[in-house]
Amino acid sequence: MKNIVIIGGGFSGLATANHLARKINRKKVKITLIEPKEENIYEPEYLFWVFQDKPISNLLKPISKLLSKEVNWIKNIATKIDPEKNIVTIENGKNILYDFLILATGARMAQEKLDAYCQTDNVCEFYTKDGVEHLKEKLMEFDGGTIVITPTTVPYKCPPTPIEFAFLLDKYLRKRGIRHKSTIRFLYPLSRAFTMAEPAKKVEKLFAKRNIKFTPFFNFETIDNENNKVLSLEGEEIGYESLIIIPPHEGQDVIKDSGLGDREGWITTDRYTMKHNEHDNIYAIGDGTNLPVSKSGTVSHFSSNILVKNLISELKGKPPKAKYKGLTICFILTSFKKSMLLHFSYNYPPKKYGLNSTLLFGLFKKAFKFAYFKFLIKGRL
Ligand SMILES: Cc1cc2nc3c(=O)[nH]c(=O)nc-3n(C[C@H](O)[C@H](O)[C@H](O)COP(=O)(O)OP(=O)(O)OC[C@H]3O[C@@H](n4cnc5c(N)ncnc54)[C@H](O)[C@@H]3O)c2cc1C
Repeated sequence: MKNIVIIGGGFSGLATANHLARKINRKKVKITLIEPKEENIYEPEYLFWVFQDKPISNLLKPISKLLSKEVNWIKNIATKIDPEKNIVTIENGKNILYDFLILATGARMAQEKLDAYCQTDNVCEFYTKDGVEHLKEKLMEFDGGTIVITPTTVPYKCPPTPIEFAFLLDKYLRKRGIRHKSTIRFLYPLSRAFTMAEPAKKVEKLFAKRNIKFTPFFNFETIDNENNKVLSLEGEEIGYESLIIIPPHEGQDVIKDSGLGDREGWITTDRYTMKHNEHDNIYAIGDGTNLPVSKSGTVSHFSSNILVKNLISELKGKPPKAKYKGLTICFILTSFKKSMLLHFSYNYPPKKYGLNSTLLFGLFKKAFKFAYFKFLIKGRL
């Protein structure tokens, strides 16, 4: 009997566990998932949820309903991995042996840094459940002034999200009749408003049209809470009435403590095979990897299919030949209804057809939630 152990039961871990459970011979292979949380949350909807009066329960589903019954679920935290002895240690001290290990540990929001930044009520974020609740309240109280939006680290989950937030904020303030007395500023570390040239041009054009002020080369350093200013490494200081940050992201402690990641704790992963760069029987998937693509659900989905193919080949004693070519599909919402659609890979820039914002792409973005819970997280597509 071979043992496959998966650490992390977010979107990537659940989709991979479910997919494997359907494809493998259960008499010969046992799959174990280590995940402490009881529920999975649909993060892309945070963006809408900030501006709408919807209950958060809509975004949550119990993992017990999402995970195949064929998978053995250990509700615990992995604290250490010994890649030489093929052992995962969990918080209660128990050791779990594996033949193959899959790391699906995601990104950690560095709470201690976030607490240091968010010392006043007017610094908000929308990447955590509590953060969304807080921002929602603060926006309802907002009555004009300068709102500044900026990432605090790169990489962060779903690169277009702060841009989308700026566009939705513009619409929201207009609807409330206070746009004329509000300034929206978007600060970004690159020379353009997005990582890729063509989408960035479109975004900057729309920013100009909607009077969203864009500042390039702003590499966040810290916040001066006393004087309501955000400071950059380049020495710039920008004042605000309200500051919305993308929280600092890094890899998980278990990856750092086990020597399986780079300096920030991102799992060093072969961009094609999804294998760990140094350990032949360890695979990695999702936001926790150092793949040179977006940290997004669609990347997890497409790369998970490759990982499963390769692992099944290995279980059959064959070489892992499948290659993930960086296929990514992501959206840039430009309003509550319209979106651009970016379809690209490692070697190809976004296809032209998706660069115009349309109602159809906006509908696709909304439909993603249905596909996420119905098919993708169940490893069915
Ligand atoms: C605001 C926002 C908007 C987004 N919009 C989009 C979008 O439009 N499209 C899109 O494709 N993606 C989007 N994303 C990104 C998407 O949600 C993530 O890429 C996806 O959820 C990543 O899944 P993951 O399983 O890799 O990581 P996670 O969901 O973070 O899961 C990791 C899991 O590992 C567990 N874990 C960590 N450490 C341990 C340990 N030591 N032991 C055991 N378990 C552990 C955690 O508890 C967690 O459940 C968005 C994200 C945000 C925040």
